[in-house]
Amino acid sequence: MKRGFTTTILHSDLEQPIEHYAVHKPMHLAVAYGYPDARELARVFKGEAAGFVYGRQGNPTTAALEAKVTKMEDGIATACFSTGMAAIAAMFVALLRSGDHVVSSSFLFGNTNSLFGTFNTLGCEISLVDATDVANVKNALRPDTRLVFVETIANPRTQIADLARIGELCAERGVLYVVDNTMTSPYLFQPKKTHAGLVVNSLTKYIGGHGNALGGAVTDTGLYDWTRFPNIYDSYKTANATLWGILQIRKKGLRDVGSTLAAEVAHRLAVGAETLALRMERASDNALRLARFLAGHPKVTRVYYPGLPDHPQHRLAGELFKTYGALMSMELADGIDCFDFLNRLKLVISSSHLGDNRTLAIPIAHTIYWEMGAERRAEMGIADSLIRLSIGIEDFDDLVGDFRQALEHA
Ligand SMILES: *Cc1c(COP(=O)(O)O)cnc(C)c1O
Repeated sequence: MKRGFTTTILHSDLEQPIEHYAVHKPMHLAVAYGYPDARELARVFKGEAAGFVYGRQGNPTTAALEAKVTKMEDGIATACFSTGMAAIAAMFVALLRSGDHVVSSSFLFGNTNSLFGTFNTLGCEISLVDATDVANVKNALRPDTRLVFVETIANPRTQIADLARIGELCAERGVLYVVDNTMTSPYLFQPKKTHAGLVVNSLTKYIGGHGNALGGAVTDTGLYDWTRFPNIYDSYKTANATLWGILQIRKKGLRDVGSTLAAEVAHRLAVGAETLALRMERASDNALRLARFLAGHPKVTRVYYPGLPDHPQHRLAGELFKTYGALMSMELADGIDCFDFLNRLKLVISSSHLGDNRTLAIPIAHTIYWEMGAERRAEMGIADSLIRLSIGIEDFDDLVGDFRQALEHA
């Protein structure tokens, strides 16, 4: 019988024997691995045998986390990185060449947006389109389009990409479909169900969940036919073509770039992942109830949350995701200063992070989205007064009480 989501994570390490009957994979801190038989070392280097050779390229603790993420995403293999941005950057370095074209959602995590600007200067061309409508993606596709990149729920305005239809389009055209699943996490949504070939997760956010560790992951779902991808180097065209992509990401991305996820950090993220389902349920429930409260408050003019019936993709979110997630944003009534409001919150923390157990708030145009400038902010629909909220797992009465008092005095 196929086990449930949480059972699978909890018992993943125990599929291999662990010394002293420990229930966690231990932290393997060695940089070097000494082989009693030098021929065996050569076989591992050649990829003919499984094993570890040098800490930059992986360690057994990180590999145990990779196995968990693979299961969470129902994929075939995962490569972990030191951060979510490292995962995205390494994937692009590994898979793209000068002259390549990419179609991406224009509603992007700020640093991903900035990274794509860098790739534009390196000879790739990245077309940003409104991915809430598959027609825009379709119109942007070209013969040299190597991949389509979207996020599930965009930050901060919570637009939802037309995930299933874009997946069908990519499958039809043989284009690699990459989905950044950070905002939903594999508990709410598995991009594989909408034909994604690669799935990115920032482990720093919901999967880790506790704000004490950075990490990122790229998972291959096994759906993409890598023999159709023109950028695979000959040395990575091994017998099993389903593994070409992740092999090239490991070699050209992880090994050559060196943004390795350390064993101590992998351990912390793996422990965090054990409670992903419980935390997501609680945070989503808090978020839905809080969104309803804020939407009905006279001093709040807008609430962007997929769980509200007036959200443009409310129905789509209900069909695709297990809950509506824990991210929302709000605009205050004219004349209320967003900084004064934030300073009046006693429980909610002003912080740029998201996906934490604690509820966090940030005036987005003045912080994370400052560097991109007013024009790009306007394109993304980000008002100067927009406040992003990442809802945590606090007791709901405390949470709503804090917002109620801060609004009362506004
Ligand atoms: C945070 C985030 C990232 C980057 O992850 P880090 O671990 O902070 O580097 C990428 N994509 C999305 C959607 C994110 O929210």
